[in-house]
Amino acid sequence: MTAITNNSQQGSTKTYDAIVIGSGIGGLVTATQLAAKGLQVLVLERYLIPGGSAGYFEREGYRFDVGASMIFGFGSEGTTNLLTRALAAVGQEIETIPDASQIHYHLPKGLDLKVHRDYEQFLAALGDRFPAEREGIRKFYDECWAVFNCLNVMELLSLEELGYLFRVFFQHPLACLGLVKYLPQNAGDIARRHIRDPELLKFIDMECYCWSVVPADQTPMINAGMVFSDRHYGGINYPKGGVGQIAAKLVTGLEQAGGEIRYKARVTEIVIEEGKAVGVKLANGETLKARRIISNATRWDTFEKLLPPADLPKSERRWQERYQKSPSFLSLHLGVKADLLPPETECHHILLEDWQEMEAPEGTIFVSIPTLLDPSLAPPGYHIIHTFTPSWISDWEGLSAKDYAKKKEEAGDRLIARLEAIFPGIGSALDYQEIGTARTHRRFLGRDDGTYGPIPRRKLLGLLGMPFNRTAIPGLYCVGDSTFPGQGLNAVAFSGFACAHRVGVDLGV
Ligand SMILES: Cc1cc2nc3c(=O)[nH]c(=O)nc-3n(C[C@H](O)[C@H](O)[C@H](O)COP(=O)(O)OP(=O)(O)OC[C@H]3O[C@@H](n4cnc5c(N)ncnc54)[C@H](O)[C@@H]3O)c2cc1C
Repeated sequence: MTAITNNSQQGSTKTYDAIVIGSGIGGLVTATQLAAKGLQVLVLERYLIPGGSAGYFEREGYRFDVGASMIFGFGSEGTTNLLTRALAAVGQEIETIPDASQIHYHLPKGLDLKVHRDYEQFLAALGDRFPAEREGIRKFYDECWAVFNCLNVMELLSLEELGYLFRVFFQHPLACLGLVKYLPQNAGDIARRHIRDPELLKFIDMECYCWSVVPADQTPMINAGMVFSDRHYGGINYPKGGVGQIAAKLVTGLEQAGGEIRYKARVTEIVIEEGKAVGVKLANGETLKARRIISNATRWDTFEKLLPPADLPKSERRWQERYQKSPSFLSLHLGVKADLLPPETECHHILLEDWQEMEAPEGTIFVSIPTLLDPSLAPPGYHIIHTFTPSWISDWEGLSAKDYAKKKEEAGDRLIARLEAIFPGIGSALDYQEIGTARTHRRFLGRDDGTYGPIPRRKLLGLLGMPFNRTAIPGLYCVGDSTFPGQGLNAVAFSGFACAHRVGVDLGV
């Protein structure tokens, strides 16, 4: 199944079944699923390695995750363990290290709490802090389980494929009705049904914000049900060797299944003939053809850069009226002396000093210390601390090189000063430091304005407004975090399964 390429400016003479633009986890899951069905697939990646926001980089003996490091989807049971399943579909697996807790929160007014892997232990700790709300706490999180239990019995494929919908409805009618009930709801509405305490409701906001980057009122209940339950079910598990292993293994599986991937292959245009997507043009002038084109770039990149913005389909215009780009992140990748961290330090932390600042730029600080789980990612005697905080591209544009460097350094110093509250002495324990801004995210991840992904402009009806994989342009599909069900590695893996299923049915396999 090797492609016959002639390496000319005209490009390959071969027509692939599918070309996938981008090797993020959404793109790779789609590609591996299609290759496993026997289709001829080519993945085109603009960067040097696969993974996108789940990639990595190496400096002076450290291997840093560029983004994601709190990984869902590696469970061994149920159907929502989509990373385990995606790898297995192409004969791959990854050794993972279980995390004893999802997050250690350091919140205003001394609200210091760990989300234990054990559900009852977590409920007890939260109940100890809000004794009058013990019952409401249980009711809210139990309702999240109700959503999760519906999802976790059914094969998660394309919701825009009627045959699948009928099949799954007859197999699991109650679970389907449960999901239909929760699909248009947001976590905030459900939380307020059970909980009164304003501080506890703020905590629920943060529980949502730390992965959806919007408060509970705008966070779809389907996503909340997944996250708030799976952390106690499949758990959070870190891939040995770093998050980059996920993409690397998917690529191995893709190639073993007969698929291809090309790096430094930036797509500059989606070729449309008679209104249908039929191929892509690369930055080197090559044109490549396929029966189906799948974009793993964000919707903004796909419809405004790879296609003429003037031709933006009406459905995309309507989508943009409902969703906007979230901010990017200011990321600080640190190497620190190991004795900085006391025993029992958790891998993931959230720090916020003032509830008013939760959504503000440089408000909430996220911290991951993956070397607590896999020490091989740093030189002996050192740890990695990856810390990041929301930041808009507009704050980083129009600066001279000198001013940009100075502003980065000042922002890094501000973050480190705040981290002293949870890691006293961090400023003097530094061995390595690298700062990435929204510009860095835009450049290396190929994401418009370096955005983390789409967020609702206002309160919407749960997940109802998120598009599936087909687009208004025949032959063109989208996959990844600007499709249902949104951001996060397990979520984009869901999108990949759904996209491959839809494309497979459309191609008659
Ligand atoms: C700082 C940070 C922390 C995060 N933490 C977590 C976490 O702890 N847990 C979690 O689950 N999720 C986390 N996420 C979110 C998660 O990483 C993303 O939602 C997910 O990786 C997005 O995957 P994707 O498939 O949509 O695409 P992306 O990862 O965006 O990949 C798209 C790929 O397409 C390529 N591409 C784009 N345009 C072109 C083109 N024209 N030609 C060729 N190639 C192109 C890009 O180079 C990239 O490789 C985090 C994200 C960030 C930024």
